[in-house]
Amino acid sequence: MSLETTNALVVRTVDFSESSSIVTLFSRDFGKVGALAKGARRLKNPFETSLDLLASIRVSFIRKNRDALDLLTEAKLVRRFRPTRRNLRGLYAGYYLAETLDAATVDYEPLPELWDLADATLARFQTDDDVPRRLAAYEAGLLDALGEFPSTRFCVECGEELPLDSVKNPDRRVLFAPNEGGVVCARCRVEKQFFELIPTTIAAFRLLEASLALAGGDESAPFDEFSPQGRAAYRDLVGRYLARVLNRRLKTANFMRFIDSSRTPRPENAEAPETFETSTQSQNSPPTSESPKLRQSPQSAPSQERSSQ
Ligand SMILES: [Zn+2]
Repeated sequence: MSLETTNALVVRTVDFSESSSIVTLFSRDFGKVGALAKGARRLKNPFETSLDLLASIRVSFIRKNRDALDLLTEAKLVRRFRPTRRNLRGLYAGYYLAETLDAATVDYEPLPELWDLADATLARFQTDDDVPRRLAAYEAGLLDALGEFPSTRFCVECGEELPLDSVKNPDRRVLFAPNEGGVVCARCRVEKQFFELIPTTIAAFRLLEASLALAGGDESAPFDEFSPQGRAAYRDLVGRYLARVLNRRLKTANFMRFIDSSRTPRPENAEAPETFETSTQSQNSPPTSESPKLRQSPQSAPSQERSSQ
């Protein structure tokens, strides 16, 4: 047992008992941490609003041994996540970010660069009108941090560079092999048996490259110059590829298809966050008593699946 202090984002909370919650944190120094927050559900609680979903917090917790849940001792709010009522895109993009972080991260495996990107992205989501661009940068940075950023120019099978830059029309079709993690040239497409190939367009890969540059701080990276078709191809490609990389269907991904359109659905029509919250809870039906051996709960199972691939 040791007392640890770090910055963290709240990516999930589940009721645990009448008075307590289990919070899943993505922390800067320790990666994912699942911790018991005693008294968090009481009206007067020691954590106040710092354990709200997607809050950025400064947290202290007692790190228990392998099969016991960590115990939260202190949480101070650094920044709450509360986009304005007009900024529904930012709100839903935040839910999506929480779900992807929860799926992508592993207990006690820190990814500080991803943490910095996610924290900065959330701050942008609630103040910016630039949500699609910030979201794409986050996705590209996430893939990069996981070592899963795809090969966008070189055939993933033979290594040959595809002559994409000489193609005038960015909506021209290209094939992407999600399990191999990259584009496929015409010859390999004929000669090899790929388990799965996703038809996409050159624009989708150019957008992915621009998004990675933006994630790395290059604010001049082109993004807005792509056509709606190009952006739609990007969204489809990244949605499908992330589902493969994270080894799960993302409940909030469907909503992200509308993130780039001018039609921002109203809350009653947008099922994503509701579905997300209901199902995250049902996935994690809280135990009936405050037993200390919760580490094997579903919080860690999906990430183990991912890391075993
Ligand atoms: Zn090839």
